[in-house]
Amino acid sequence: MVKITIIYDNTVYREGLESDWGFSCLVEAHNKKILFDTGTSGRMLLDNMKKLNIDPGIVEEVFISHDHWDHTGGLHDFLKINPVKVYVPATYYSGQEAKETISIKEPLEIHDNIFTTGELGNIEQSLLIATEKGLVVVVGCSHPGVKNILQAASEYGKPWALVGGLHGFSELHLLEELEFVCATHCTQYMAEIKKMYPQKYIEGGAGREIVFK
Ligand SMILES: [Zn+2]
Ligand SMILES: [Zn+2]
Repeated sequence: MVKITIIYDNTVYREGLESDWGFSCLVEAHNKKILFDTGTSGRMLLDNMKKLNIDPGIVEEVFISHDHWDHTGGLHDFLKINPVKVYVPATYYSGQEAKETISIKEPLEIHDNIFTTGELGNIEQSLLIATEKGLVVVVGCSHPGVKNILQAASEYGKPWALVGGLHGFSELHLLEELEFVCATHCTQYMAEIKKMYPQKYIEGGAGREIVFK
């Protein structure tokens, strides 16, 4: 089972949470609890966590997709509370505050059944979680292109679900091969994706919990 809880997003799914331009989610899979990205504001990240009853102390690692403020903005405040290990793409320079910073260039299995695509397009890495049905692919903004990300992911299995920001993505036919798509954050063609793939589409937004079984 893979559970993804969207903590920080451009929109709100669950009433009472705040929204803001940025993205962060908690990924719980294979006995690991990984915070994927940290949104723009540390204050808002931690407030939304509190409202979702997510104790920052349970997070074991942080995975930073790329060095854009709307994904790294909350990192400093989070690490002040829980200074865990942080995975960053190789082009990320400001990770000194972490207890341990792992710089990622190449694809890597970071835990059993949990992988990074490696840094693609000299900017961004994506998190891959293997399940019996295929890979759950978690993306920040998809700057390297969804096609390249899915291609890199294929090295570890068949992409099955895609969750995160699809910035500038318009090759909607590429989603055909997937079973689930939660296109959120900076995705421009959300309405079109939803219209084209109503069965696959999962609404995003802060507070959204997605369980892949
Ligand atoms: Zn970005
Ligand atoms: Zn972004």
